[in-house]
Amino acid sequence: MEKLKIGISSCLLGNKVRYDGNHKFDHFITETLGRIFQYVPFCPEVGSGLPIPRETMHLVGDPSFPHLLTTRTQIDLTERLIRYTETTLNSISSENLSGFIFKSKSPSCGLFDTLVITTPNDGTVKRGTGLFAAAFTKKFPFIPVTDEKQLQDLPLREKFIEQVFAFSKCQDLKQ
Ligand code: SF4
Repeated sequence: MEKLKIGISSCLLGNKVRYDGNHKFDHFITETLGRIFQYVPFCPEVGSGLPIPRETMHLVGDPSFPHLLTTRTQIDLTERLIRYTETTLNSISSENLSGFIFKSKSPSCGLFDTLVITTPNDGTVKRGTGLFAAAFTKKFPFIPVTDEKQLQDLPLREKFIEQVFAFSKCQDLKQ
């Protein structure tokens, strides 16, 4: 059986692209799901030209349109990330992805649970979506998405896999 193509946050495959020069290798995703999925890795931060290692960053402002700032030096990286994201998402269309697995909590890749500092003065935070993940789900609303935390939950894992196969089948039928 031909493997289905799935986009993935690169660090989950063990690639050392994180801010601290490390990775977030996920054995289940890479080895077990890797038997049915062919992964196409993306790291928006490195892809946008940021070095490894690099300063940590976080989201600040309105959770619907947050800014990406470095934590200590407060450099605004929003434009840089958005430029990379727009170019990448335009070319992703030709990859025929049937799903995407994001890294949770990341200011670039987090799907549901990235902290957004809404009021810097008193440190109030809300939960939001990383810049790359937000742009991806907006551009491709029908491609199934999940993160490595949801995949630890059996019902959510099964739901994602079913959605991926159903989406792939629909794409085949369209063609
Ligand atoms: S979470 Fe996303 S941006 Fe951060 S290191 Fe992993 S792939 Fe790169």
